[in-house]
Amino acid sequence: MKVIQNLVPTSKYSIKCPNSMTAEFIVVHNTANDATAVNEIAYMIRNDNQVSFHYAIDDQEVVQGILENRNSWNAGDGGSGNGNRKGIAIEICYSKSGGEKFIAAEKLAAEFIAFKLKEKGWNISKVKKHQDFSGKYCPHRTLDMGWQRFLDMISSHLSDPGTRIMGTNVATAAQLKAYLLSKNPNPKINLDLDQFCKLWISESAAEGVRGDISFCQACHETGYFNYGGIVLPDQNNYGGIGAINGNAEGNAASFDSPQIGIRASIQHLKSYGSKDPLVNAIVDPRFQLVTRGIAPNFEDLGGRWAYPGYDKKKYSSLNAAKAAGDTYGHYIMKKYDDLIKIKVQDPDPLPDPKPDPILDPLKDQREASIKEVEQLLQSVIKILQSIN
Ligand SMILES: [Zn+2]
Repeated sequence: MKVIQNLVPTSKYSIKCPNSMTAEFIVVHNTANDATAVNEIAYMIRNDNQVSFHYAIDDQEVVQGILENRNSWNAGDGGSGNGNRKGIAIEICYSKSGGEKFIAAEKLAAEFIAFKLKEKGWNISKVKKHQDFSGKYCPHRTLDMGWQRFLDMISSHLSDPGTRIMGTNVATAAQLKAYLLSKNPNPKINLDLDQFCKLWISESAAEGVRGDISFCQACHETGYFNYGGIVLPDQNNYGGIGAINGNAEGNAASFDSPQIGIRASIQHLKSYGSKDPLVNAIVDPRFQLVTRGIAPNFEDLGGRWAYPGYDKKKYSSLNAAKAAGDTYGHYIMKKYDDLIKIKVQDPDPLPDPKPDPILDPLKDQREASIKEVEQLLQSVIKILQSIN
């Protein structure tokens, strides 16, 4: 989704956006002409009418003309009207003629509005139409085609359930190994790598946790088992358990063996992902500190397992980073997306199956016939010899 800005200059704030605003919802419009989003915004800035809006969206891109902390004169409900003073106004382009371009513009608008809702932690009830504020039949073509239909388009982008922590492994131990070696040929692991990867699969399967994704989390936490942070390689701590930002080197949980370290990571994940009891005896020192089942998806771990769990320089809030798919859980899932693409030879392939014997019920009969012919030929040969 391409979002560009062409902002109203401050010299025109008094005409276009005189008031500061704390947005509470979104107001949807149709432009009722066939201009591009870029031209729509340029025209809005150029003229001196008290008519303005925050975004215009066409089939290619989103163009922002006014910052979301300023009001816009979009809703026709007066100087202190809610639509004008609390709404983020979005114009969908190409509504005059409709057709493919409008359909594509509406589609992009639905995507963008869903992104905004997620960013702000709003639900679908925060999507309003111009008509709600002044009675004007706008967004006219969207209304003609069905308002609920448009809301459903937005909702389809909202219902992204994420990836469950609890579940069956999809990747194999051989894939985990190949993935890790592709990133770091000399991982600092206190065990044979084959065994280590197999343990990751078997330990997670015992608790019903996605160990293949948990392994990616370990890759993230340990820098592909290169370490260099608070946790040291001989601590067998693959999830940064007890490694709180600012701790001294080594000031985190330690586990007696790689197997117990893996088990602790899996148990810690299960504490977030499920309310089910553990199968193995508890080895995770922080298991009891988690509200059981509070983060059922890997994408929910940002701000919980890891704090803050997103790049504060890039995003104003965890919700904004989540809307952009760029939090701790998303970092893990990106690694998993790469891992699962790796194709490896099955280390213990089954022997080639023997071809099925071909069933031939006439075999005996045919062989008997051949014998008969042979005998006949012999007789003929004898007769011919006797003639000579
Ligand atoms: Zn309108």
